[in-house]
Amino acid sequence: PAPDRKARTAKSGLHHFVIQKHDATRLHYDLRLEMGGAYKSWAVPKGLPFAKGEKHLAVQVEDHPLAYGKFEGTIPKGEYGGGTVMLWDRGTWTPDGDVGAGLRDGKLEFELHGERLTGSWRLIRLGGKRASGEKNWLLMKRTDD
Ligand code: MN
Repeated sequence: PAPDRKARTAKSGLHHFVIQKHDATRLHYDLRLEMGGAYKSWAVPKGLPFAKGEKHLAVQVEDHPLAYGKFEGTIPKGEYGGGTVMLWDRGTWTPDGDVGAGLRDGKLEFELHGERLTGSWRLIRLGGKRASGEKNWLLMKRTDD
């Protein structure tokens, strides 16, 4: 999908996030973090971890336009992502540290302020700094204040 032209982030200073429960070939949760006018996206088969020390696989998928964050409904079988999509949570997120450097180095620490979820998580790319093309990340819970 093409990125949105209006970058709301710059105006409001707030970054939005959504989690869509996606009952496709395999059930997963799509975590989407607004960055630079699009949603950076990860498919998380087990959903977000809630206990410190728990690590869940998060597979980075293509960026999605911000408008997709409102989508709920059914994608026809046979199309990419065929199945039902339910908006599971939404709100704003706060990065801890520089987002660009985090993406480059494969380490993103952030807080979610959602309707369902509030807390701190960390995304670590497998292979770390050198594995810039690696799609597999680990999502883990951090200690909350
Ligand atoms: Mn999905």
